Amino acid sequence: MVINGANPGPVLCLTSAIHGDELNGIEMIRQIILELDPKILRGVVVGVPIVNLERFWRKERYIGDRRDLNRYFPGNPEGSYPERVAHALFTDIVQPCDMVIDLHTGSFFRENLPQLRVELTVESVAKLAKSFASITALQSISPPGSLRGAATKAGVPTIVMEIGGPLSLETDKVTVG
Ligand SMILES: [Zn+2]
Repeated sequence: MVINGANPGPVLCLTSAIHGDELNGIEMIRQIILELDPKILRGVVVGVPIVNLERFWRKERYIGDRRDLNRYFPGNPEGSYPERVAHALFTDIVQPCDMVIDLHTGSFFRENLPQLRVELTVESVAKLAKSFASITALQSISPPGSLRGAATKAGVPTIVMEIGGPLSLETDKVTVG
């Protein structure tokens, strides 16, 4: 989903459901895209509401053999299934953008309070985190193979927002997000 603003500006990418059971971010992106007014927007907002569509349909966090799609970035076009999915998202959508916010929830039976996960030592990432209003920002080194780490390394500052728990659509959390 792409909203092209009438005025020039940066390109922001929003991604969610890299883990197929994390639903709050899907609705957050839907609402953001619907509510944006392209006439006053500066720049572009790109929304990828369901990255892991195959596992979303199965209501499952991981791909087969408990492998985590969010450990395969930046991917490989000749590699395994998750490497190819990661590569397609990374090269076609993420790399042309100027910044990314990757939306998540807690895993399994955990519920995460609203928080940003940020590598505060990276200046461009810290600057992006400061553009949020009152929300806790946790200093967090990106896990190897995560979208956040790979994109930041490629020069696209990326942060993760965690909000709520899996397998449910929590409207109050969506509103906060
Ligand atoms: Zn997640």
